[in-house]
Amino acid sequence: MICDDTAQIDIRKLARLVPEIPEVTDFEGERIVTAWTNTNYGGRRQWFLCPSCDRRCAIIYRRGDGPLWCCRICGGGRYLSEHESPKARKLRKALKVRKQLGQRGGGLLTPFPLKPKGMHPVKYARLREHAMPSEREILIEDLAEAVGKSVEAVKAILALQG
Ligand SMILES: [Zn+2]
Repeated sequence: MICDDTAQIDIRKLARLVPEIPEVTDFEGERIVTAWTNTNYGGRRQWFLCPSCDRRCAIIYRRGDGPLWCCRICGGGRYLSEHESPKARKLRKALKVRKQLGQRGGGLLTPFPLKPKGMHPVKYARLREHAMPSEREILIEDLAEAVGKSVEAVKAILALQG
């Protein structure tokens, strides 16, 4: 089961859509039970109890056999990101930072986004400082691939030319 591609219910999202999530529901012929725990901040948090193992979980997944809905562990669920190449992972993370800063489209070749209104300058500086070396790595890897040279060779060429 690939979690990203599997029908799922996230109790946190559900809680924003309905006034109250019942503690026991019959859903598509299956009994879905929830439980509450106390949070450290004096609040309460509701969980699903996995119909298969009774474990508390925030997300239940729909699978084809056994109890229809189950937690990620019972479903043997894995995330798409676990199958990513290291480079694809780096790229996804880099794009996520840019998106967080308000960039819509354009990838890494557009200038790094300016500080969004309302973001603390220190936070922005930290994000940018963290993002730059990683973006540089990705672009150098792309360039190396495009010209059929090793990353080290490309780095050496770029260093020579300042
Ligand atoms: Zn389970």
